[in-house]
Amino acid sequence: MTARILEGKEFSLKIKEEAKLGVEELKNKFGVTPSLAVVIVGENPASQVYVRNKHKTCEELGIRSEVVEMSESTTKEELIAKIDEMNADKSINGILVQLPLPTAIKAHEEEILNRIDPLKDVDGFHPYNVGRLVTGSPTLVPCTPAGCLKMLDLAGIEIDGKRAVIIGRSNIVGKPMLHLLMSRHATVTVCHSHTKNLPEVTREADILVAAIGKPKFVTADMIKPSAVIVDVGINRIAPKKLVGDVDFDNAKEIASAITPVPGGVGLLTVAMLMQNVIKATRLQLEK
Ligand code: NDP
Repeated sequence: MTARILEGKEFSLKIKEEAKLGVEELKNKFGVTPSLAVVIVGENPASQVYVRNKHKTCEELGIRSEVVEMSESTTKEELIAKIDEMNADKSINGILVQLPLPTAIKAHEEEILNRIDPLKDVDGFHPYNVGRLVTGSPTLVPCTPAGCLKMLDLAGIEIDGKRAVIIGRSNIVGKPMLHLLMSRHATVTVCHSHTKNLPEVTREADILVAAIGKPKFVTADMIKPSAVIVDVGINRIAPKKLVGDVDFDNAKEIASAITPVPGGVGLLTVAMLMQNVIKATRLQLEK
């Protein structure tokens, strides 16, 4: 059997279409144009590409977008002062600090991110939003796992009652994915580098999410026939060659559906960020 390929482009277009309607609704009902401010500190070339992409997508959907460029030598205090200023600015609905931060302030990342007003925290990293996700309350959810769930829904893949296995327990992907899938009534196991007999566990998965950061780590023999495979990994193995955490060519012969890399989950992340800006704007209006 050859798996259905879950193309990120198809789903991200749908998510963006939904977001566009959300923008129009906010404009027509409340006279509000949602806005996102992205702070980039230093000159990391990959970060610059990501930030440009976010800015372009905002413009495409009618979301106001501001890129705040700060120098490599920015201090923790200066960055926090900028965040405070944006927290107080009612014309800004979403705030995102692009990671990674320069080495000199990297150690303060948590303190810096936690300074963002939770209602403007479109990355969904603030402990307030994490707590609400864990307790099952409506909240701003990290964009990559939220995109994975949205894609499963749009693809008509059932989650309720399924066995889901996540490899990876990061705060950005693995842990939020656990809560999202559990909230949708999957039975979820989270694996990590200390998990014993990993292939035995992954072979039980109806839905397998790989968020490890190791090229082609998940091989065909780790996959249950007809499983749905969500590959979050992005690994550069040559200057112009990206691969996922799953051995795609062999896995697609066993799985029933699989996301490719590139062209899979990566495209959903920016689309979900747009939805989070709209959600944040609505939460602020409700307040
Ligand atoms: P982290 O490095 O934060 O986490 C990796 C996880 O994988 C850890 O929990 C680690 O376990 C686990 N792991 C490492 N080695 C093994 C192993 N041998 N067996 C089982 N588990 C293992 O990564 P992220 O979650 O931030 O990212 C994961 C991947 O997803 C990366 O490739 C990243 O580039 C990609 N990514 C893609 C995004 C997108 O937009 N598509 C967004 C975010 C990330 P332990 O906790 O024990 O160390």
